[in-house]
Amino acid sequence: MKSLPFAGPIPPVHQRVSVFRIFLLVLLLYSLPIVLYAQSSEALSIGTLKAVPGEIVSGNLVVDSGVDQGTTIPVSIICGTKPGPVLTLLAGLHGTEYVPIIALQRLKSLVQPNELSGTLVLIHVANTLSFKEKMVYNNPVDHKNMNRSFPGKKEGTLTERMTYTITSEVLPKSDYYIDLHGGEFNERIIDYLYFYYNCPDPEMDKKSYELAHAMSNKYLFPFDYTWIADTAASEFSDFEALRQGASAITLEWGDRGIVTAEELEVATSDLLNVMRKTGMLEGEAYTNEHPVYLENEQAMTCNYDGIFYPLTDRGQYVIKGTKFGYTTDYWGKVVEEYFTPISGIVIVTIATPAIKKGQVVGRVAEVRETFERK
Ligand SMILES: [Zn+2]
Repeated sequence: MKSLPFAGPIPPVHQRVSVFRIFLLVLLLYSLPIVLYAQSSEALSIGTLKAVPGEIVSGNLVVDSGVDQGTTIPVSIICGTKPGPVLTLLAGLHGTEYVPIIALQRLKSLVQPNELSGTLVLIHVANTLSFKEKMVYNNPVDHKNMNRSFPGKKEGTLTERMTYTITSEVLPKSDYYIDLHGGEFNERIIDYLYFYYNCPDPEMDKKSYELAHAMSNKYLFPFDYTWIADTAASEFSDFEALRQGASAITLEWGDRGIVTAEELEVATSDLLNVMRKTGMLEGEAYTNEHPVYLENEQAMTCNYDGIFYPLTDRGQYVIKGTKFGYTTDYWGKVVEEYFTPISGIVIVTIATPAIKKGQVVGRVAEVRETFERK
């Protein structure tokens, strides 16, 4: 504005008019970025919650009752004063995966709107009913697994209506999406994550790759997008997010529902790092240059109700045919033994004695040196 031609003697009226026109033109040109700024630093609504730039809004996303009872999903929206992407972090799809839930509470206290470019959406506990009941995998009302139920159904049972609500209210508004899991009460699990490659949109492909490598998780599981048929249901929240145009990953933090100070520190700093990587916070972002890539995940399933005895641990390297564990009946007779179907890393093993027919007792994955994009 210092270069505006107002210094010096006052010009004649006709000249003053043209100077005024120039002033208007310059004012218009100078104000254009301000107008664009206001347009791209927008308010965001989720359900009945709405946050405008500079605001932190918390409340419940309501899932109405239908064929069974309804529920609420606690959400916070932190709307930055500067333009940028929308990042959604979702925790608690499963009821006893606690590290992400506590990490989101910490993150909420650390991110201020005046330091934020874009909008941060926190789904604090996606499945409050399972959380309250301390119930693993499934919802206590309809006994369905939320992360096998995307995109959901408007008129379905509770789990399907919950996923439908997230599919319709949250995912389409997200540019980046991270589904945060961990070891349930009964699981010993390594800190790994899934990301998709060969996505239809190269930009989304690149951003999902960047998200995955902005986390310090040691093990990364690249999953080929083209392996899933276009006609197949999404099932998983991250895949539904990708289908709706958000770059997305799913990760696992924590073990047996335990929250340690160290894990919490890593989780919080990783989430802040993602926000730097996506340009939402200032500062240089860390990149995980040397992850261990996994592939060909194989599950071992129990065919009896009984008592499970694990013989391997998470992160252990096993060869094909290693005795993984066994199940006895309630009186102590061995009814089933499990042997690893491949050589690789134990990514999860059941750590509690209780097991029932049809449940997975463990998973193993192979180490891959790299992966090829098409
Ligand atoms: Zn989970």
